[in-house]
Amino acid sequence: MMTESVFCPEDLSQDEQDLFWMQRAYQLAQQSELQGEVPVGAVIVKGDELIAEGWNRPIQNHDPTAHAEIMALQAAGKRLENYRLIDTTLYVTLEPCPMCAAAMVHARVARVVYAADDLKTGAATSAFQLLNSPQLNHQVNIVAGVMASECSQLLSDFFKMRRDSKKREKILRQKNPQKNVGDA
Ligand SMILES: [Zn+2]
Repeated sequence: MMTESVFCPEDLSQDEQDLFWMQRAYQLAQQSELQGEVPVGAVIVKGDELIAEGWNRPIQNHDPTAHAEIMALQAAGKRLENYRLIDTTLYVTLEPCPMCAAAMVHARVARVVYAADDLKTGAATSAFQLLNSPQLNHQVNIVAGVMASECSQLLSDFFKMRRDSKKREKILRQKNPQKNVGDA
């Protein structure tokens, strides 16, 4: 998937680095959308180097676990040849779900930076607090809200477009009911 090494520019503050990498995650989210998936992108960084990328692809992969973060964690493990991703930061455009948050704890990711809150199922700060739960044996540092408005706009535009196209299909079906006869 990745052929060349990618580094962030030198002399950036932590906030600037976070923005730099989130922009890359945002581009991957756009890639998900082009492929008909819910637009979520993730990157994993160690030091100033990009280690892995992932974007949401459960539909294409026929895989309910193929969230952007899982795809990135799997690629990072292969790249580092280690199932522990010590001293890494994972950037993701949407607050991780419980599955992905648990996977990050298993991977010992040091830090998670996410953009938009997921108030319904987010497992960093919103619906659950799995990333820094004292009951688990590893706690992940959390930074929330980097590029939040851009990333949540991308998601809400996507869902609106999907609702609109379903509505259009329904209207078309009502207008041409005979068209589906024989299909059933
Ligand atoms: Zn997830």
